[in-house]
Amino acid sequence: MGFLGRRIAQANRQFKYLQNDFRHATGLNRSAFRGAKGGVRIITYHGICQNDPLRFNASFTDARTLEKHLRFYNQHFNIISLDDYLAGNIRKDRFNVCLTFDDGHHNNLKYALPLLEQYKAPATFFITGIRQAGYDVLWNDFLAVFSRSGPDRITYKGEPFRKNRWNHYISTTDGHLLRDQIRAGDFSLKTEMFQLLDPAGDFQLKNAAYEDYWLQMTPDEIASLSGSPYARIGAHSLYHNDLTKVPAESLAIDFTTCKRFLENTIQKAVTTFAFPYGTYAPSVTDAGLAAGFTHFFALEHLFAEENSTLISERLVVNPYISIINQMLATISGHY
Ligand SMILES: [Zn+2]
Repeated sequence: MGFLGRRIAQANRQFKYLQNDFRHATGLNRSAFRGAKGGVRIITYHGICQNDPLRFNASFTDARTLEKHLRFYNQHFNIISLDDYLAGNIRKDRFNVCLTFDDGHHNNLKYALPLLEQYKAPATFFITGIRQAGYDVLWNDFLAVFSRSGPDRITYKGEPFRKNRWNHYISTTDGHLLRDQIRAGDFSLKTEMFQLLDPAGDFQLKNAAYEDYWLQMTPDEIASLSGSPYARIGAHSLYHNDLTKVPAESLAIDFTTCKRFLENTIQKAVTTFAFPYGTYAPSVTDAGLAAGFTHFFALEHLFAEENSTLISERLVVNPYISIINQMLATISGHY
């Protein structure tokens, strides 16, 4: 789709969203909720912060919005656990939602868990093994925070980059994003990035004020989260690599090390796995099955033969739209 086409599609979507808000105000959307009985959707949240969720990227949700979602779910939908989803235990007289949180941020324990307990809402947290590797931040959160607070221009491995208007470093030579360059490989590209962008190793000191946006849970905190009757733990890979870019021989290590780390940490079996960035390939799923995972979660099915419960689709929360439009997208499965 060209630029004009995209703008028209965007304008149409915005008009649809405004219309939905108006319908909700006049009560017309109640039929949409009634018509959705017996359906089910898995929802993905990431970091939860107190305010300014868009400060570093578009994946965060503020605690007030999460609380509004939970109130809405309890009023109009039925919240089910991932175990119930996998067992097909859903209510036929309501629309069912299954809540998941990715990336293992400390803020999940700080802001999300108290709300889940208050609203008696079960959720599954997909956590990486990054603490096992000795890091307290995921590479993509590190780069998002660095890109916001770092210099306007940098030279990375001899190549000049400048910030674009979204505070992403973009190559002045061919326009590619530094983020895409670093995502396109295994963890050696990430460890190199940590060293090159933060040679003094004082990222933590410099960015302590923004901890809510990058700090990972410690193993003790993961164990504490797992102790809540409303929390289940799933795996989200060892290093938060795009697993389709990881060499075959490293895939087995990634799956088994992450599984062992989480199981040792929480003293419970971990059998569910959410692909970082939602991307996968048949060889990735095969390596996960061989490591003992039984269910996988992606953004969407990418291969024609898949519609079993082996790989389930999830809908990621959109921070740019109103609650009512988020709930209508939750029912329809798309924005
Ligand atoms: Zn993730």
